[in-house]
Amino acid sequence: MRAIIDITAIRGAITVEHDNEEEITAATKELMNEIARKNDLDNPEKKIISILISTTPDLTSKYPAAVLRAMGYNDAALFSSLEPPIKNSLPMCIRLMVNVASYAGMLEPNHVYLKKAQTLRPDLVRYSIAIDGPSGAGKSTIATMLANKLGILHLDTGAMYRAVGLKILRLGIDFSDEKAVDEVLQKTHIDIEFENGVQNVLLDGENVNIQIRVHEVSQAAAKVSTLRCVRTALVHAQRKIAKKYNMVIDGRDIGTCVLPDAKYKFFLTANDEVRAKRRYEELKNAGQKIDFETVLQDIKKRDIMDTTREISPLRQAEDAILVDSSNMTPSEVVEKMLDYIKEHL
Ligand code: C5P
Repeated sequence: MRAIIDITAIRGAITVEHDNEEEITAATKELMNEIARKNDLDNPEKKIISILISTTPDLTSKYPAAVLRAMGYNDAALFSSLEPPIKNSLPMCIRLMVNVASYAGMLEPNHVYLKKAQTLRPDLVRYSIAIDGPSGAGKSTIATMLANKLGILHLDTGAMYRAVGLKILRLGIDFSDEKAVDEVLQKTHIDIEFENGVQNVLLDGENVNIQIRVHEVSQAAAKVSTLRCVRTALVHAQRKIAKKYNMVIDGRDIGTCVLPDAKYKFFLTANDEVRAKRRYEELKNAGQKIDFETVLQDIKKRDIMDTTREISPLRQAEDAILVDSSNMTPSEVVEKMLDYIKEHL
C-alpha cells in the first residue's frame, strides 16, 4: 500500500432558486463536476475519501447525497447534514466539503463557488485584502487571480465609480455641479451582485458590466470620484459589502479610507508606459478603436486627478506592501502576494 502524502478539504457551494428535486439534483451535479474538474480529481493519484454535504434549512436535504451516489462516488463516505439557521446566511445553498487524499504530492485546493454562493458563512468572516494603485497597474487582473486562488470574492470598486460616471454621462449633467450630481445619486441604485464569483454592477437594476468599460466612462468615473457626495455614498456601500464576505477589494483608497483595518494591504504599481500598454491592449482586444498615445495621456490625466483630489487621494497606506509589477507577470505578482499572506496568517 502506498503512503498518503497529503489530505486536503476542498470546499464548494452553489445556490438554487427553488426547493425541488430537479433543481437540487442539477445544482449538486454541476457543483461536484466543477470541483472534480478544477481539482483534477480523475487523476488516479488522488482519492476522494469522504464528502460532507450540508444544505440550508430551506432546502430538502435528502437529494444531494442521492445524486452523488448516482454519479458514482461510491467509494467515498458521504455525510449529509442540515445547516442550523444562521442570521444573514445565504438562503437556498448546498455546500460540499470534498476530502481528498493525494499519493503523489501536496494538494492546493481550488474551492468552487457557483451561482450566488459565497466562500464562507457570514459568521466565519475573517479578513479583507486591499489592493490599491493607479490606473492600469493590473489591480483587477491580480485581484481576480488572487481571489480565485483563495476561493474568495473580488470586489472591483472602480466599477462602482464607473457606474455613477455612466449615469451622469447619460443624463448629460455637468460633472462639476455637485448639487445636481448629488440629487441624481439620491435617486440612483448601484448594486453589486456576484454570480459564479463574477461581479455584476447593476445601475438601477440594469447590468452595466460592458457599458462601463469604454474610454468616455473612464474619464467620467475619474471626474465623479472627486466629489464628496459620490465618495461618501460609495465608501459606505463598499464597507457594507466588505463586512459580509472575505474579499479581495481593489481601488484607490481601500487601504487608506474604506478599510484602514484590512488585514492585508498591497499597493500595486507599474511605470506609465507599461500601464498604458496594458490598458491599450485591453481596449484593443475589446474591439475599441483607440491609439496608444491617447491611452497614455488618459492614464497620466487620471493619475493627476486621482493623486491630487482633495478627498481620499490615491496614496500608499503606511502599512501597505509596495509591489511594482513593471517587470513581473501576473502570476509572479500573485505568488508574491500569496507568499506574504501565508507568512502573515
Ligand atoms: O479602477 P478603475 O479604472 O475602474 O476606476 C475608475 C475610476 O474610479 C478611477 O480613475 C478613479 O478615479 C476612481 N476610483 C476611486 N476610488 C476607488 C476606485 C476607483 O476614486 N476606490
